[in-house]
Amino acid sequence: MNSRIQAEQQKSSQDLTASARTSAPVLEVKSAAKAYGDHMALRNIDFTVHSGEWWGIVGPNGSGKSTLLHLLSGVLAPSSGSILIKGKPVKEYSRRALSRLIAVLQQDGLPEIDYSVRDVVAMGRYPYQDWLGRDQSDGEEVVDRVLEQLELSPFADRLLTELSGGQRQRVALAKVMAQEPEILLLDEPTTYLDIHYQLQFMELLADWRRRTGITIVAVLHDLNLASLFCDSIYGLRAGESFMQGSPDECVTEEHLRSLFQVDPVMIRHPQHELPQFLLKKKD
Ligand code: ADP
Ligand code: MG
Repeated sequence: MNSRIQAEQQKSSQDLTASARTSAPVLEVKSAAKAYGDHMALRNIDFTVHSGEWWGIVGPNGSGKSTLLHLLSGVLAPSSGSILIKGKPVKEYSRRALSRLIAVLQQDGLPEIDYSVRDVVAMGRYPYQDWLGRDQSDGEEVVDRVLEQLELSPFADRLLTELSGGQRQRVALAKVMAQEPEILLLDEPTTYLDIHYQLQFMELLADWRRRTGITIVAVLHDLNLASLFCDSIYGLRAGESFMQGSPDECVTEEHLRSLFQVDPVMIRHPQHELPQFLLKKKD
């Protein structure tokens, strides 16, 4: 990449981070806990995400990451404590109001169904439709623009069943983009993608954030990717907060050892000095 463009991109992302710090809280989790029956899946969860920030939620399997995302999206209610979105408790929003504010993308975003790419992306517009299914806004234009931005226009009439997993996940992203949310929640969205599509997916999120200032909270199982893309990392262990801070503060040898019981080799990314790690193999 041309170094001038790179410098400009770095500057704009620094600007964004600086403005995010001074901007209003968008998601506030206050002393939240969640029990399934008598199993405490989460306890003592406290953090605040500001407008335009990108948070990565990490932790071992079963540590409560998906449960936390369900609390943020309002799918599950906390057993105690509260979740505020733009200063108001999640439970006080109507489903419709919430779906205009928040979009959620799962690990395998879309099933293999006999719908065309365009039809699926247009489904993202449902929060803006009246009871007759008419879009109250410029829905068609939004769908066309999103297809264009994600280079999906040539596939617009293809069926989802005719796409690869990576392409299907791009359509899932297009659908949530068409929803035009202010907050995007993702649960391990790159799990089933090869490294080409993993990186492409993360870059598309980064572009989207640069363009619109959207707030992103993503459960990511790959801490190296989290370090490269996120402003802040929140680590869970056995349902409790384990760490919270910048990639520099969180992606450390000590943390990796106690979170995942691995003995890593820490390195600095040569491009921008962010922390990365390599796994050691037994001799
Ligand atoms: P993660 O996403 O980090 O793997 P989850 O949030 O899915 O973790 O799960 C956290 C804990 O809660 C696990 O012990 C899991 O078995 C339990 N759990 C998750 N969902 C349910 C549920 N619907 N009913 C009962 N227990 C659940
Ligand atoms: Mg999960």
